[in-house]
Amino acid sequence: MEMSTAIRSAMDDDVEEILLTHEQIQTRVAELGAELAADYADREPVLVSVLKGSIIFLADLVRAMPVHVSLDLMELSSYGASTQSSGQVRILKDLSGPIRGRDVVVVEDIIDTGLTLNYLLKYLNDRGPSSVRICCLLDKPARRLAEIDISYRGFTIPDRFVIGYGLDYDERYRNLPYIGVLRPSVYGASPPEG
Ligand code: 5GP
Repeated sequence: MEMSTAIRSAMDDDVEEILLTHEQIQTRVAELGAELAADYADREPVLVSVLKGSIIFLADLVRAMPVHVSLDLMELSSYGASTQSSGQVRILKDLSGPIRGRDVVVVEDIIDTGLTLNYLLKYLNDRGPSSVRICCLLDKPARRLAEIDISYRGFTIPDRFVIGYGLDYDERYRNLPYIGVLRPSVYGASPPEG
């Protein structure tokens, strides 16, 4: 398979199809950064990201935003893989600073059912921010269960389980520079649930 990046890795052999190349991602992230920088020029927003999948996107996004920002990170876990769609979420790492009166931008890697984000938005809104908006790299609307208002969207993608650019399968592939679909032979009979 033709790879878009100069560095080939053993991980590339596990990829069935590249959905978004490194170049496509970088171009779109630069556009999102410019849009956010213009909208938040003198508001010094707090960018809140959810570990671990979003950190690669966050790192590139903030470097495309030539304005003052603060960063905060949360880690969430759903109560076991099989109950993911219940939207029951546990906080493993909380915000490290207050967000009262601040303009918050939630930076997410991917929105699938929307249940994780739905929970997070309630949690953040209870802490008195002046505004909360969402910036996501990937929007997978096919399985959406909660209505989510996305202000900044990188790409809309089909209902496939994707890896790379922060997104994992079993903690692997986060360091791929592109976004791709895994070969079925990697995960066995049925594709993993988002
Ligand atoms: P949601 O609550 O919107 O269904 O999903 C939230 C989380 O599920 C995402 O932040 C991500 O961790 C995981 N997820 C959903 N779809 C995918 C996917 O296609 N690939 C990977 N690697 N994770 C996904």
